[in-house]
Amino acid sequence: MSGTTRQGGSPASGKAAESGSGGSTSSAAGRERARVLPGPAGRRLTVLSGPSGVGKSTVVAELRRAHPEVWLSVSVTTRKPRPGETHGVEYFFADDEEFDRLVASGELLEWAEFAGNRYGTPRGPVLEKLAAGVPAVLEIDLQGARQVRATMPEALLVFLAPPTWEELEKRLRGRGTEPEDVIERRLAAGRVEMAAEREFDLTLVNTSVQDVCHRLIALMADAPEASRPGRSPS
Ligand code: 5GP
Repeated sequence: MSGTTRQGGSPASGKAAESGSGGSTSSAAGRERARVLPGPAGRRLTVLSGPSGVGKSTVVAELRRAHPEVWLSVSVTTRKPRPGETHGVEYFFADDEEFDRLVASGELLEWAEFAGNRYGTPRGPVLEKLAAGVPAVLEIDLQGARQVRATMPEALLVFLAPPTWEELEKRLRGRGTEPEDVIERRLAAGRVEMAAEREFDLTLVNTSVQDVCHRLIALMADAPEASRPGRSPS
């Protein structure tokens, strides 16, 4: 089954999201997988956002596995590591003091507080990769995506949506990594994120991790303007 694509429109434009323009992605999968990402079109920054529990980390891990040519930013967070998480791989884990220092010195491209912890994208590595022509992906929350849109309007903003709200709740509870009060905070944040879907250039529905990865790779390889028809000037 393919992931569904919806092209976005900004809320200001009043344009409704259209369904199904992504069509079947699996037939194009081999071609997209084989594609290298050279040249100016591949230099774009891609932001992957969406509610907690939707599967962004799984998508990013699959992207890292299948497409090592794509660079994924490693964020800094004040959240404590979950079992299995390694400093410098999933995140750079920092204390509040260190995070304050990074904010004060302007070393973060964007940062946000999410469900009681702070998260931020180190600026230097992103700019270096983009300058070197390496396609770069940020996996960040809505507040961060809005900051990136404001400072780097050429970035492609992709919203990862769950097939249904019930499915999102099930995934968030099912992973068993957070206590109930944290799950509630994440679900509350998730409702806000879902309401902001139309601020993104397009939506990918996470029905299949592989399909979402194929679509992301195809989007990164596309000419920037070809993949963002619904975007209105901001
Ligand atoms: P988690 O604690 O589940 O790893 O992440 C919680 C939320 O923080 C997720 O929505 C994730 O996308 C977001 N996040 C991770 N890194 C960053 C970052 O650098 N900046 C922002 N704004 N959000 C981030």
